Amino acid sequence: MKRHLVWLRNDLRLRDNSALHAAAERDGSVIALYLISPAQWLEHDDAPCKIDFWLRNLQELRAGLDKLNIPLLIRTVEHWSGAAKTIAKLCSQLEIKTVHVNEEYGVNEARRDADVEQALEEVGVRFRSHLDQLFFTPGTILTKGGTYFQVYSQFRKVCYERLNLGVPALLPAPRRQEKTDVDSDPLPIKVKGFETPPDTLREEWPAGEEAAHERIELFVDEILKTYQDTRDLPARDGTSRLSPYLAAGVLSPRQCLHAALANNHGEFETGNSGAVSWINELLWREFYKHILVGFPRVSRHRAFREDTERLKWRRSQKDLEAWQQGRTGFPIIDAAMRQLLATGWMHNRLRMVVAMFLTKNLLIDWREGERWFMRHLIDGDLAANNGGWQWSASTGTDAAPYFRIFNPVSQSERFDPEGRFIRRWVPELAGLQGKAMHDPSRLGLFGVERYPQPMCDLSATRERALEAFKSLAATNSVSL
Ligand code: FAD
Repeated sequence: MKRHLVWLRNDLRLRDNSALHAAAERDGSVIALYLISPAQWLEHDDAPCKIDFWLRNLQELRAGLDKLNIPLLIRTVEHWSGAAKTIAKLCSQLEIKTVHVNEEYGVNEARRDADVEQALEEVGVRFRSHLDQLFFTPGTILTKGGTYFQVYSQFRKVCYERLNLGVPALLPAPRRQEKTDVDSDPLPIKVKGFETPPDTLREEWPAGEEAAHERIELFVDEILKTYQDTRDLPARDGTSRLSPYLAAGVLSPRQCLHAALANNHGEFETGNSGAVSWINELLWREFYKHILVGFPRVSRHRAFREDTERLKWRRSQKDLEAWQQGRTGFPIIDAAMRQLLATGWMHNRLRMVVAMFLTKNLLIDWREGERWFMRHLIDGDLAANNGGWQWSASTGTDAAPYFRIFNPVSQSERFDPEGRFIRRWVPELAGLQGKAMHDPSRLGLFGVERYPQPMCDLSATRERALEAFKSLAATNSVSL
């Protein structure tokens, strides 16, 4: 009897899972494997709430696999450098013919997979990787000159052309197979080095494909139509909040695309502006993953714009900590940073606002913010996080120009006009009314109990950032 192994990673679902589907279509039986890699995860700054989300999703997936008679094996390899040996040994023990995986795009992931492929080749096992996290394989959406796109709108145009030729199809869950003589392993409920998050956080992000599908159905039925108008308002449930499910692969981008198209008469460029704009966000996700492959230095936390590596960032542990803990004295920044700590998630508009504040007003290296986000986000994703940070810091591809610095007070007035979001996360300010909510100090309300004074002068620090970038431009042959 032939046996195929599916090595699951960030693809914790049964439906529309390319690798699982491919393995199940072959003649023979399927066995699933998941690796627990605590040291590697710590090295990648994976957040405890994200690890917990993976484990909770594994529990759900295990229940689904049980029904299909697909055993789920668990192996611990502290570091991915141990993956090749462990998987090759397992394949020999179980007489596996082929190992199926879904492609992953960071440099460490690519190196790990290349090592595993080589080790398997040595023991006569085939290694097959499948496109799954993206609509298009990186390297297939290129400029006429054959290079990776660096400008999102140009990248998107080619994506549209490809989608016009056909939208990637959805794959069914595997069929139930005959029982095998391999037993599933018990699942860990905790991994050393990663704290279990509070129940309130866990309840906000229920695990499993059913929960993810409930969420996407609710979103496309009730929010998608107005997404364009509500997506920037953090006090509203105006976005899908699907990012943790997409990052862990509990939901696929193809499933998202199909759900949006079904709600927009199959159109992705025209029709309902909410659907068009949401599909654009899925393409931003796609863009940053292609950038990761095209420009591997970003995977190593190097600036996309290499000239900006010379920027003179400030070092201030005190300022960094005030930002991290939501004690800056700017209510919208503090509300956002506290939302991150409490829920493992932050609204997109606010991710940009707090990132600009850190990198421009505080002039602190974007890598500090990137790391803090990664250590706390339940949807932490190297490509999107790095892309978002480098966009905000003006060091990235197609980034915000360095002189376009968001003012956190005006952003607050514009996107949280009633102060509802601030009131929720900064209860010290709940008693304030109207404009005072956005900038209590301006109205002489320094004395608000337990709430700090603004940690910096916004216009002076804005000037300081402009100077830092200008002096960089002056020493550059290329202009910023
Ligand atoms: P929706 O608005 O419903 O969008 C649907 C999906 O599209 C998202 O779930 C996400 O997968 C994708 N998406 C949306 N916006 C972007 C974007 N700008 N870039 C890439 N993909 C996008 N997203 C992450 O998934 N992981 C991260 O670690 C991450 N870090 C970020 C850091 C910074 C500084 C910034 C500015 C953005 C970051 N983003 C990240 C992108 C974005 O903020 C989140 O994807 C979004 O807030 C998730 O909420 P949602 O699911 O409701 O999004």
